[in-house]
Amino acid sequence: MPTAAPADPYRFFDLHVLRSAPLGPSMVRVTFGGPALDAADDSGDAFVSAGRDQRFKLFLPHPHQDAPVMPATWSPGTWFADWRALDPAERGIMRSYTVRARRPGELDVDVALHPGGASGPAARWAAAARPGDRVVVLGPSGPDNGGYDFRPPPGAPVLIAGDLTALPAIAGNLAWLPAGTGARVWVEVPDAADRQDLPTEADAEISWVGPGGLLDAVRGAEMPGTSPYAWIAGEAAVVRALRRHLVNERGLDRRAVTFTGYWRRGATEEDLLAEVVADGAAR
Ligand SMILES: Cc1cc2nc3c(=O)[nH]c(=O)nc-3n(C[C@H](O)[C@H](O)[C@H](O)COP(=O)(O)OP(=O)(O)OC[C@H]3O[C@@H](n4cnc5c(N)ncnc54)[C@H](O)[C@@H]3O)c2cc1C
Repeated sequence: MPTAAPADPYRFFDLHVLRSAPLGPSMVRVTFGGPALDAADDSGDAFVSAGRDQRFKLFLPHPHQDAPVMPATWSPGTWFADWRALDPAERGIMRSYTVRARRPGELDVDVALHPGGASGPAARWAAAARPGDRVVVLGPSGPDNGGYDFRPPPGAPVLIAGDLTALPAIAGNLAWLPAGTGARVWVEVPDAADRQDLPTEADAEISWVGPGGLLDAVRGAEMPGTSPYAWIAGEAAVVRALRRHLVNERGLDRRAVTFTGYWRRGATEEDLLAEVVADGAAR
């Protein structure tokens, strides 16, 4: 018997800022809301996060606009081409972020402000975000959406390492881990005051590392048990070096290492996207 096609697990959500609050010197929490989030209008299914490192795309207006300019209609197969066909000086500025928390009517996103570094449009936007500011989110509308990568084998000890941009995902990963899982965690923060509480039922040892210290901290540490699963995210060159260390010097199976460059020093997310497109591998 034929079954109905599964609902598309991603779609555009028109949202607005409910409030924003600094979390420390280098990060701001922006809370979004809007009827689309809970499907309280007729725009489609609700925003559903799978937790862990659930990612989504945030579309922001340019400084001269009130709302991001987006393709007229949502189409799962063509949204990327439709968005790219728009004038780059006018189309919504697309950036990748992580769901920090999802509550009825609310979506929290924690945005790093690039302290001491070059600033980008998303960091600038977040620093100035005010209630009512409009955005569009390309987000999951089903828990089985594939937009998360933290998938430790059941029972395996876990190694997690990342910088401030990965802190929201690390918080989600730790909150998701089952009770008793052994976890060794390193988080690099620009300032000691950027540390956060990271609630977890896992048996986790969390180390906070200063600027530039992530690689050395992991290099100098004992691995959590035999055959750990590793999850690494942050600046691309640091992530690559960490992965190389874990695979080549610590002997981890490369399939047991999930690694993602969340940003690259000296490159905007447009630059990175252009490389992906040039490789013919846009997703
Ligand atoms: C799957 C995924 C999930 C992510 N989740 C989050 C998240 O939850 N929170 C978060 O803050 N970031 C997150 N990021 C990283 C974020 O998308 C990038 O930092 C992005 O480049 C920020 O956009 P921007 O407009 O501020 O800067 P861009 O215009 O992209 O870059 C401008 C300049 O700033 C530099 N830059 C970019 N990010 C940083 C940084 N963090 N510190 C110092 N310099 C920087 C760039 O190298 C460039 O020179 C995530 C990335 C991915 C791929």
